[in-house]
Amino acid sequence: MPTLLPAELKLWQSVESEIKKILSSYAYQEIRTPLLERTELFQRTIGEQTDVVSKEMYSFLDRKDQSLSLRPEATAGVVRAGIEHGLFYNQTQKFWSMGPMYRYERPQKGRYRQFHQVNMEAFGFEGPGIDAELMILTSRIWKNLGIDAIQLELNSLGTSESRKNYRATLIEYFKDHIDSLDEDSLLRLEKNPMRILDSKNQEMSELIDSAPKMNDHLDQESKDHFDDLLERLDSHGINHKLNHRLVRGLDYYTKTVFEWTTDKLGAQATVCGGGRYDDLVKQLGGKDVFGIGCAIGFERLVELVELSGKKDQNGQPKIYLVAVGDQAEAKSSELAELIRDRFEDCVVELNQDGGSFKQQFKRADRSESDIALILGDEEIENETIGIKTMREDGEQETISQHKLLDSIAEKIGA
Ligand code: ATP
Ligand code: MG
Repeated sequence: MPTLLPAELKLWQSVESEIKKILSSYAYQEIRTPLLERTELFQRTIGEQTDVVSKEMYSFLDRKDQSLSLRPEATAGVVRAGIEHGLFYNQTQKFWSMGPMYRYERPQKGRYRQFHQVNMEAFGFEGPGIDAELMILTSRIWKNLGIDAIQLELNSLGTSESRKNYRATLIEYFKDHIDSLDEDSLLRLEKNPMRILDSKNQEMSELIDSAPKMNDHLDQESKDHFDDLLERLDSHGINHKLNHRLVRGLDYYTKTVFEWTTDKLGAQATVCGGGRYDDLVKQLGGKDVFGIGCAIGFERLVELVELSGKKDQNGQPKIYLVAVGDQAEAKSSELAELIRDRFEDCVVELNQDGGSFKQQFKRADRSESDIALILGDEEIENETIGIKTMREDGEQETISQHKLLDSIAEKIGA
């Protein structure tokens, strides 16, 4: 589980705030659910046979022998909370959340045991408009973050009814080719045959490509929904690719499923994944409520932003106060508060623990300050202060202390 260090969190924070702005402009509201839920919740929603539940969960017994798990994803908890608080009665809802998820996986680049997701979920919307909006919204996120190397892939899994028929067809097909199935696929054959389509085993690639396609087994309703969605994407100029093998790793999806993938991140290529889950709320004891959502893998997104080169310089101006002598130190602390009052966006750092002018200037340099303010005995006596622009090797000027705030405003363009 990686520790996130201050140096990398700068970019994290700017990506976070960009995403939050966009989510709120599409009327999504934040919800925060606990990191721990009953294990049973994930078993019932994600599905016992999925990789996530069968081998990736952090589960343990609490003091009353109740099995709890660290959340491996967000949707289950959001649906649980929505039912518990009556949020699905006669109203639509759009929620977002952001935070850590836990999966016991083999750690590697782009795959960690604690990772972060931005999740979006919308409830109570039946038509394909919301499917399209979710893809438009995510595509705006990529655009605003300066990412172009990203591609939308989608598929329809149909209603649970049409999936039952497809499942039977698929089992039949793979049984006819049972000698070509690997161990994993043999296990999936009876319990979760659609997951075979998701296999990364190159040797089975041909077999899978020739398998019957869900798209040819959709019921009319699912077909209409999907066609309508594709038209909307076209009219918004969102390029997309049908991927018949896209089934997603969790059991609760119905109709639309989609992923945003990139060829810039090696094997861990999926940056965002999601889909509809029209049966999920009811399945968990709630009303019959339509649902759709997706999750962005934050680590992968940040890496992609970094590779795209459009790094957001976190634009806060920084001021360092150099002060030599007791009186100067006291005064610098006083002035720092005045600066913070007036320039809320500024980072203001006071020199601590003394030191010569030379030593303190070194610290100001190392802290990557834009401006250094200088106070010594002479300045105290004359009620002046030295001000120096650090980045462009500016000259040091001496100004009267009561002109300080105006002079800073001028230098940082505030
Ligand atoms: P993958 O196929 O990469 O295992 P997944 O289908 O298991 O992904 P989802 O459950 O759809 O992943 O989660 C949504 C997103 O969260 C993924 O597309 C990915 O960006 C990110 N993600 C999932 N697992 C991890 C992980 N262990 N470490 C980092 N990011 C992850
Ligand atoms: Mg996975």
